[in-house]
Amino acid sequence: MAFTLPALPYDYKALEPHIDALTMEIHYSKHHQAYLNNLNNAIKGTDADNQSIEEIIKNISKYPTPVRNNGGGYWNHTFFWESMAPDSGGEPKGALATAIDSAFGSFAKFKEEFANAGVTRFGSGWAWLVVNGGALKIGSTPNQDNPLMDVSDLKGTPILGIDVWEHAYYLKYQNRRPDYIGAWWNTLNWEQISRRFNDAK
Ligand code: MN
Repeated sequence: MAFTLPALPYDYKALEPHIDALTMEIHYSKHHQAYLNNLNNAIKGTDADNQSIEEIIKNISKYPTPVRNNGGGYWNHTFFWESMAPDSGGEPKGALATAIDSAFGSFAKFKEEFANAGVTRFGSGWAWLVVNGGALKIGSTPNQDNPLMDVSDLKGTPILGIDVWEHAYYLKYQNRRPDYIGAWWNTLNWEQISRRFNDAK
């Protein structure tokens, strides 16, 4: 049973000007597709063949490195696309807004700490907002690891994540990762992120 590429929930230019159409097209149709293809090749003949991607990821230490890298890449990008939407951004509301204020002091301070996690991730990886034991926590992971993986130092249920690999921003922002992260806030689908928060609590 092979995994498939979920449809992008909007078109390539939908997140302009914050994320440009060419970056979206290459990121989805080349990078995400490649993680998927490589994952399907890597799980052939293993017991991962009949499990959900979440089950595989939670037990990733049982599998060879190509499953970790490509299974992570497959899951992370689906999660990333669903975190964003056209005509979105702004600030969270309700219980998530209250939890962010209580954990980080204010939404502005949360953004500063989260952006710092993305900027300071050396090389390629992801920054995350997770729920761990009912509490919100910020951190980052290398490569295509994520906080659901049993091998990850950062643990918890991710409710938001940003891809800080150069392929996510280099065409438009070149070496300016902080500018990419700054623009990315304008794309966030807080309704979706709040649903994840409510499910994770
Ligand atoms: Mn990526």
